[in-house]
Amino acid sequence: MSLALLVQKFGGTSVGDVGRLQHVARRIVEVKEEGNEIVVVVSAIAGETDRLLQLAHQITETPNARELDVILATGEQVAIGLLSLAIQACGSKARSFTGTQVRILTDNVHTRARILNIDVERVRQALREGEIAIVAGFQGVNVEEEVTTLGRGGSDLTAVALAAALDADICEIYTDVEGVYTADPDLVSTARKLPRVAYEEMIEVASLGARVLQARAVEYAKNYNVSIHVRSSFTRNPGTMVVQEDRDMERVAVSGIAYDKNEAKITITGVVDRPGIAAKLFGRVAESGIVVDMIVQNISQDGHTDISFTVPRSDFHKAKELVEGVAREIGANQILGDDRIAKVSIVGVGIRTHSGVAAKMFAALAAEKVNIMMISTSEIKVSCVIEEQYAELAVRVLHDTFQLGDPPAEER
Ligand code: ADP
Ligand code: ASP
Ligand code: MG
Repeated sequence: MSLALLVQKFGGTSVGDVGRLQHVARRIVEVKEEGNEIVVVVSAIAGETDRLLQLAHQITETPNARELDVILATGEQVAIGLLSLAIQACGSKARSFTGTQVRILTDNVHTRARILNIDVERVRQALREGEIAIVAGFQGVNVEEEVTTLGRGGSDLTAVALAAALDADICEIYTDVEGVYTADPDLVSTARKLPRVAYEEMIEVASLGARVLQARAVEYAKNYNVSIHVRSSFTRNPGTMVVQEDRDMERVAVSGIAYDKNEAKITITGVVDRPGIAAKLFGRVAESGIVVDMIVQNISQDGHTDISFTVPRSDFHKAKELVEGVAREIGANQILGDDRIAKVSIVGVGIRTHSGVAAKMFAALAAEKVNIMMISTSEIKVSCVIEEQYAELAVRVLHDTFQLGDPPAEER
């Protein structure tokens, strides 16, 4: 009997070069030698997925999604082979598996496929034979045997889904920071590592721009009750546990700040205010596969109103063209576009039970003369769209306002 079954995922920077791969291999072997069974999920070497995307875009601005997946999946395939070799070089047994070889079955939506089922038999067989199983992150296969990928950051999802399918004791996400922080530690030097974060909070933080975990992976973990430990590949310190919410967590209103510069805003002015207009407009946007995030509609004056909404920046031009077409049909006045925006958000399960949190956020932005263009709220978050140039300033100011940082040394 082994001590535990662990799924360990290593991100791109953790396997950034041969030296790091060897370091990771030694760490994995150590844990194996303590008597644990280990399934490793690995991402492509840092920068590789971007490089492959660029190559495709050099040939065409609109690469075919099936072919893109064929290209993108190679990054992870190289990484599993290299890591497997590095582990074997440490004198341990390892075997690599692509998504197809495991059989991580997905739907047909190339570049952002959903996992439908994982057949763990081959992985279990490797474990029974005393091997470390090394599985390619980010990739799967559909019923037609086509290679698919799971969206950017998708190796996190591979790891969580494998942990669920194998009923693993824990899913460890090894990355280049020590855990989930109150804000991006690259940006805010006083950001503090959170010992625990609730699934729901983490889903918000991730979908509002923090890269550290893929939002879909956290959703999956919540649904299947997978415990996630986010920690560093380079230090031994304990990281952040992503867990079910508990009462203690509500004591603080805001647990983190996130920001996102990947959206753009489209405004339609002078739209006739009658039933069916929003349905027509957003119906058309949805049909083209563009995902709308925030929507704001003003109250009408003289039977006319303005509608603003945000879309991923990569879909900005497509969305604007499409709206220009619909605008003629619905008799709108003008279409305005702005792709120099940022969304800044405060997140915390405590927002539910504390009052005045949103007002405090708006006041802090006002004090810096940062104009708020759009606002959206949920039970546990408040987001503001602002000019892109103020994003970093806003994050730092909000981090201070909600006193999220480490206390100065003399107060400790
Ligand atoms: P990996 O390649 O290991 O998957 P990612 O680059 O996807 O790593 O995610 C880790 C990065 O997420 C960190 O380097 C950090 O800059 C960024 N990040 C953004 N927000 C946060 C946050 N709140 N806590 C921790 N890291 C964050
Ligand atoms: N290599 C993929 C990406 O860069 C998947 C991942 O790193 O999780 O998005
Ligand atoms: Mg990642």
